[in-house]
Amino acid sequence: MVGGLVAACLWAGFAAGGLDNGDFGQPASPLFALLVAIAISGLGGTLAIGLFWHRARRMAGVASSAEELLEEVAHAGAEFVWETDTAGRLTFLSDGFERSVGLAPAEAIGRTWLEVLGQGLVDPAQRTIAMAIAGRRSFRDVEASVVPADGQSRTLRLIGQPKHGGGGSFTGSRGVAVDISDIVKARERLGFVDRHDELTGLLNRVGCMRLLAARLRRGRRQDEQPVLLVIDIDRFRGVNEAFGAAAGDNVIRQVAERIRVCARESDTIGRIGGGEFFLLRPHALPFDPILDLTRRLEQSLEEPFSVPEESLRITCHIGLYEIAPDDREPEVCLRRAQVAISRGRRDGRSTHLFMDGMDLEARTMRRLEEELREAIAGNRLALAYQPQLALRSGRFVGAEALLRWHHHDHGFISPTRFIPVAERTGLVVPLSRWVLRQACQDSRRLGDLCISVNLSPIDLASPDFVDAVRETLARTGTDPDRLELEITEGVLIEDTESTLDVLLQLKRLGLRIALDDFGTGYAGLGYLQMFPFDKLKIDQSIIRRSGRSRHAGAIVRSVVALAHELGLAACAEGVESREQLELLRDEGCDLVQGFYAGQPMPAAQMRGVVDRQTALLATGQT
Ligand code: C2E
Ligand code: MG
Ligand code: MG
Repeated sequence: MVGGLVAACLWAGFAAGGLDNGDFGQPASPLFALLVAIAISGLGGTLAIGLFWHRARRMAGVASSAEELLEEVAHAGAEFVWETDTAGRLTFLSDGFERSVGLAPAEAIGRTWLEVLGQGLVDPAQRTIAMAIAGRRSFRDVEASVVPADGQSRTLRLIGQPKHGGGGSFTGSRGVAVDISDIVKARERLGFVDRHDELTGLLNRVGCMRLLAARLRRGRRQDEQPVLLVIDIDRFRGVNEAFGAAAGDNVIRQVAERIRVCARESDTIGRIGGGEFFLLRPHALPFDPILDLTRRLEQSLEEPFSVPEESLRITCHIGLYEIAPDDREPEVCLRRAQVAISRGRRDGRSTHLFMDGMDLEARTMRRLEEELREAIAGNRLALAYQPQLALRSGRFVGAEALLRWHHHDHGFISPTRFIPVAERTGLVVPLSRWVLRQACQDSRRLGDLCISVNLSPIDLASPDFVDAVRETLARTGTDPDRLELEITEGVLIEDTESTLDVLLQLKRLGLRIALDDFGTGYAGLGYLQMFPFDKLKIDQSIIRRSGRSRHAGAIVRSVVALAHELGLAACAEGVESREQLELLRDEGCDLVQGFYAGQPMPAAQMRGVVDRQTALLATGQT
């Protein structure tokens, strides 16, 4: 392309009668325009100026072709031509000058470009032009904003080169001025699009980061306390999925507007991701108004949103980061506000302030995620089985599959630590499928035991989960009756309708469903009735308290009664002592699971336990 243009330029020069004598013969309009275009784009600028300038200079003296040539100059976008002496003082300006700059040529002749255009020379043009003329060099990127007589401000680009007299002595500079107002406007628009979010008109992530970077570069006065807020709409993807992208966009616009209303004039607001907003408050001393702001934001965003024909409620989490005087990296500041959000989510707080040490924790989490990925790929995870004892028969009737990760450096890592990491990164989906497959394979070695597998809410939400279960059962030849899936109460509240649908499909496959950790959450009786559970697992915290309470067993009794009322089996978790076991038996609990009945153990060991029990039962000694 570049080569082509330069070749065209040379060809134009030859066709026009040669470059040296500056005599163009017949004008060749399209080529002439092309040359100017080359000059504008800076390609072969020197060559084009030579042709252009000679032509315009001739035009000034040759009246017959002047109008014709000027028309071409105007057509090609060039405004006027100019010439200076060796000291940079203007000695010649063609007619277009007055129209473009708003000064009569006579007022400018004898003065330098710096004097004529002054402040209008867009930084660093002043230096460029002064140095180029003093150094007798060509220049092409000098931009000047001018306000001509019509009052419409424009941007000109000056392109110049040194001129030489006979014997090669330097005689001054000459060049053209081109109106690049449209280009500048387009550039500004592009810059705007680059830094702004189309949907809300707020700054986008790039814009926010640039602004924050500039803020950090400027440093911080003693009496300032800039604070960065990140406002994250909970499960925003869910809004899009449930109501459609148009409704999602609508909500985002409304959120942006509500944030705008809550913010101060001096705050900067942006949208940095799907449902993630940025607010920078430059002066947040004293700190109270910030808390007031977060309260107002929360309240405002809690109000229902109107999407056509529906009213929708959302919740949000807000992370705060107080910018420190030595902060330099905008991304680090942003990450810290986001880390505060994660911590808030974990601790059940909607607003959280970043504190030292939190990012260390976030880094640890990221490392854990990487190592977990490697452990899955390297098959370094294992399942342990914890038996469930039927109190009436005294037989082991089931076993819960519990994930075990033996880390090469850190030893045993609890699933309570790595499952939440896997849930956050989506790793839990392949992880659960591995658990399911492994548990089904092991179940064939575990006699008549019904194997329970824990599920995460993310599993139930993954679209092909039911198919994956069906396929695993078929591939491993597992009797569906021997597989139980444990879900926690949180799942029920997430998205009731689709969860119910998935659970019903699973039930149709012939599986059993247990509600895990009952008593720790907020599942009301309504949920218990609505969902197709087979078993209620009473959380170990209830079992633990039952032993100490004055009314030992009252809670246990009512939970067991509730389970039976609903036709469910009651299983007590975390049973550690004989007393607890007896209390549970007295209260009519069906099953117990806990260290007293058996620790989690590898499948082979579990098999030994089952075999021994079968042998004992055969000899009549339980
Ligand atoms: P959970 O499903 O309620 O599992 C019972 C937990 O209680 C297990 O902890 C078990 O080792 C522990 N436990 C059993 N008996 C006793 C006892 O007598 N006393 C005490 N103090 N603890 C007892 P673990 O294996 O650390 O698992 C913790 C949680 O991690 C599980 O709670 C479950 O929510 C999750 N988890 C474990 N494996 C998986 C898995 O494969 N997938 C998913 N999604 N979650 C899993
Ligand atoms: Mg469980
Ligand atoms: Mg449990």
